[in-house]
Amino acid sequence: MAVTAAERSAIRDIVLTHAHLDHIAGLPLFIDDQFSELTEAVRIHATSEVIEILERDVFNWSVYPRFSELENSHGKVMEYRPFVQGGSFRVNDLLFESIEVNHKVPCSGFIVSDDSSSIAITGDTADMDSFWTALSRRKISALLIECAFPNELSELAEMSCHLTPNTLAAELEKFKDAECEVYIINIKPSYRESVLRQIKVLNSPRIRDLQVGKTYEWTGESLGQVS
Ligand SMILES: [Zn+2]
Repeated sequence: MAVTAAERSAIRDIVLTHAHLDHIAGLPLFIDDQFSELTEAVRIHATSEVIEILERDVFNWSVYPRFSELENSHGKVMEYRPFVQGGSFRVNDLLFESIEVNHKVPCSGFIVSDDSSSIAITGDTADMDSFWTALSRRKISALLIECAFPNELSELAEMSCHLTPNTLAAELEKFKDAECEVYIINIKPSYRESVLRQIKVLNSPRIRDLQVGKTYEWTGESLGQVS
């Protein structure tokens, strides 16, 4: 989790796509660091499958304490909010609709909406169909899609169910809304430069990258970087 101290103390809802370590690694320390100061539980929104993995393999008293059973002087410090794959749930003012994507393990993509607009996030995925079908029924203002590996690692990408710039281009062919801006997420850090170089070759001005640690705000038309 790339957040400042102020953001950390404001975040009380965490939505998980799946339980792979690069998506949950910050979670145990996030709770631990704030344990005594939490005045409300941190809510973990995840499918029951992901929750079972967290309880069995992470918060199992051996790897880390089972925070879901612990309280500080204010009460519970962490609680699970299970959602059903394919269903929807609210997090404050936002509506999350989950869509199963194509990863090595069960993984959710989301359409996230407030009163005025919707954005879509793939999570980790390889090629997919139902995600695009769900998006085709809606007006989506921005799409955040993964592209983990460069083209030369296509075999590894295929084995681990991730996208490369070439397979990303094939996926975007299925996304009919040519107006929608596309933001690249979840690039494996060591390959960031080569993935971005290869995406540039696709010559699609609507594709941009999002950087970890930066803050973006929806302007109504695009995601503008504010810091
Ligand atoms: Zn993954």
